[in-house]
Amino acid sequence: MQVFTTKTDLIDYLSTIAKERTIGFVPTMGALHQGHLRLIEESNNNCDITICSIFINPTQFNNPKDLAKYPNTLDKDLSLLKKANCNIVYSPQVSDLYIVGEKAKNYNFGDLATLMEGKHRPGHFNGMATIVEKFFRIINPTIAFFGQKDLQQLQIVKALVKQIKIAIEIISVPIIREKSGLAKSSRNKLLSPSDKEHASLIYKCLLYCKNNKSEGVNKLKKYLCKIINSNKNIELEYVEFVNLNKMKIIEDWGEENKNAICVAVYVSGVRLIDNIIL
Ligand code: AMP
Repeated sequence: MQVFTTKTDLIDYLSTIAKERTIGFVPTMGALHQGHLRLIEESNNNCDITICSIFINPTQFNNPKDLAKYPNTLDKDLSLLKKANCNIVYSPQVSDLYIVGEKAKNYNFGDLATLMEGKHRPGHFNGMATIVEKFFRIINPTIAFFGQKDLQQLQIVKALVKQIKIAIEIISVPIIREKSGLAKSSRNKLLSPSDKEHASLIYKCLLYCKNNKSEGVNKLKKYLCKIINSNKNIELEYVEFVNLNKMKIIEDWGEENKNAICVAVYVSGVRLIDNIIL
């Protein structure tokens, strides 16, 4: 496994080995877990070369405290990636990707970015798209792999490749969960065992909705809010029932597997998101 900390070295290396080979790209912010490793596996299965980036992108954090406490476990990440047969890691400093004072670009993703993460984390998607576009232009992968855990992000990345007219296929991977149902997340490292127990309520509620879809959107939304709000350790930020492709609020179910319920909560000050497609 080759590890690069500058884009110049990475580009040089790719120019020597990437000819006629397909490149799979997995962008991450590190503190890797099984969810990330599932993306690496998918890339290995689909491409000749797998590149993983580890970069905590400052422009996508609207809350400086969230950025400051984001976990950083680089040595462990590198050993996990090696075991997972990742070929190349790119783990740059901020100065390799941003000039001093550089801000996120302003994109227009329309309705895709107005609700949920777009509403509650102002500037988040501009920051995310800025760094993803930079990575795409440096690496020029054949396929990029994203998790359904960040469902709205996934739809925005698909829109981004169309907008910037770059020929990269986007493949998504289902959410990997802990035994309790809690979605794996780097932020779970900041939770105590009892926090995790409380947080596992989210998936139980989402699963209830999937299994009781016939109760209808409005009734299930009220149910979800009531159950989550009744746990004093969980602070609900939003729950939205949306159309999967447009990320717009629905009043009634659309076609099977074209609807999603997306949730964001805080548990002991740690922000967690989850969703289910139904
Ligand atoms: P992050 O490091 O949190 O920015 O995530 C990097 C990539 O891993 C994104 O495409 C995420 O959607 C994906 N990811 C994070 N957690 C999971 C999970 N539990 N299951 C599947 N993919 C995930």
